[in-house]
Amino acid sequence: MSDHAKSFMAYVKSRNPGEPEFLQAVQEVVDSLTLVLDRYPEYRSAKILERMVEPERVIMFRVPWVDDQGHVHVNRGYRIEMNSAIGPYKGGLRFHPSVTLSILKFLAFEQVFKNSLTSLPMGGGKGGSDFDPKGKSDNEVMRFCQSFMSELFRHIGPDTDVPAGDIGVGGREIGYLFGQYKRLRNEFTGVLTGKGLNWGGSLIRPEATGYGCVYFAAEMLATRGQTLAGKTCLVSGSGNVAQYTVEKLIQLGAKPVTLSDSTGYIYDPAGIDRKKLDFVMELKNVRRGRIAEYAEEFRSATYTPLDLNADANPLWNHKADCAFPSATQNEINRKDAENLVKNGITVVAEGANMPTTIDGVQVLLDARILYAPGKAANAGGVATSGLEMAQNSMRLPWTREEVDERLRLIMKNIHKTCVDVAERFGTPGNYVHGANIGGFLKVADAMMDQGVV
Ligand code: NDP
Repeated sequence: MSDHAKSFMAYVKSRNPGEPEFLQAVQEVVDSLTLVLDRYPEYRSAKILERMVEPERVIMFRVPWVDDQGHVHVNRGYRIEMNSAIGPYKGGLRFHPSVTLSILKFLAFEQVFKNSLTSLPMGGGKGGSDFDPKGKSDNEVMRFCQSFMSELFRHIGPDTDVPAGDIGVGGREIGYLFGQYKRLRNEFTGVLTGKGLNWGGSLIRPEATGYGCVYFAAEMLATRGQTLAGKTCLVSGSGNVAQYTVEKLIQLGAKPVTLSDSTGYIYDPAGIDRKKLDFVMELKNVRRGRIAEYAEEFRSATYTPLDLNADANPLWNHKADCAFPSATQNEINRKDAENLVKNGITVVAEGANMPTTIDGVQVLLDARILYAPGKAANAGGVATSGLEMAQNSMRLPWTREEVDERLRLIMKNIHKTCVDVAERFGTPGNYVHGANIGGFLKVADAMMDQGVV
């Protein structure tokens, strides 16, 4: 790290104590941005980076709700409005017990770069709560969502801040949140994305993050004259992103062999085919069960429980060609990255946000594999949210084929931006620099144009 980068990180650490995930996300871009700040010192004197690490606004609020037995619970709600230089704040809501200010600030910070890469006019934000929808009845989830929106509604709007889903927030939660927003504001508008198809949602939005991540991996492989056909793929998670990653991999002739949840993972060397994926979708989206049931249903698979004390995750220690981490942050550490490289992996495309630790990333970069950071590879979700906003403004829905084609083009363009920018800054093939710098430049230039705000 350069002296400038070191002193900048010391400054950010002193202002954000106890926020390890946020500091990790900042450090990841600072290493790349040194290349830009050295070449264009005007960004340094305008303190662009110092402004970008400071959220424009942080909203924290109490979310009280009553369970089915009449007991009162109190959760904490958040919305981080990080940067609006190129458009209204845009980014998902996460409902998970691990949610903290640090995690949401890291996600909001990454979102700024990601949204810029899509080339759509969207600023960056993120929000959520430490509420756990798992094990709650639909009525409890509804009461929680209504209470959450009863505060959030005054801070968001179609031209101000447009939230979407993330971990723990799917179609059911978006429905309850939208219903309460509409009731409080007395207006039907595109204030949330990921809506149901018959009330303003876009075709392909549920599929977009997973599909987009696979399209990005296909673009990377094409630079080496290869395709996904016949490739064995490791996928983690079994939620929205993982499911549609597996669906697109199957469509393109690849062989996905793993899936996981927060209790363990399954390994199915025979491959997860359409029928098995349908089982997973029903298990996870309807019955809300555990992935262990997959191995009870399909004899070709084995189930391994998650061991929190292990120094490596065995999911990443199988022979395969490609890896699609699609569960959560920091799920690939240095040892896992070494195992991936040892097992002959040639592609890692991150469906999740920041799933690889900083030293894990370094292992993948040193091995010169095709490594795509989440802010590039998983940008298809928010890009399609941007397309949902456009359709809402026009009050005209596009066909499935039209949205999918736009998604494919956006992923192709993001890939091209990453490749071109990495080349321009003297680090060809480095998608980390490509994504960080490519995302930064557009936001930085807009901030320069708009003065010190
Ligand atoms: P879901 O809630 O649909 O699924 C999350 C999956 O990851 C579940 O299988 C869950 O297991 C598992 N998981 C969550 N937390 C942990 C944990 N701490 N340890 C182990 N497993 C865990 O979320 P999504 O699929 O939407 O999101 C997955 C990732 O993709 C996140 O990093 C998210 O930020 C990112 N992302 C999502 C986008 C979207 O459009 N949805 C867009 C861009 C990025 P369990 O069922 O046991 O909870």
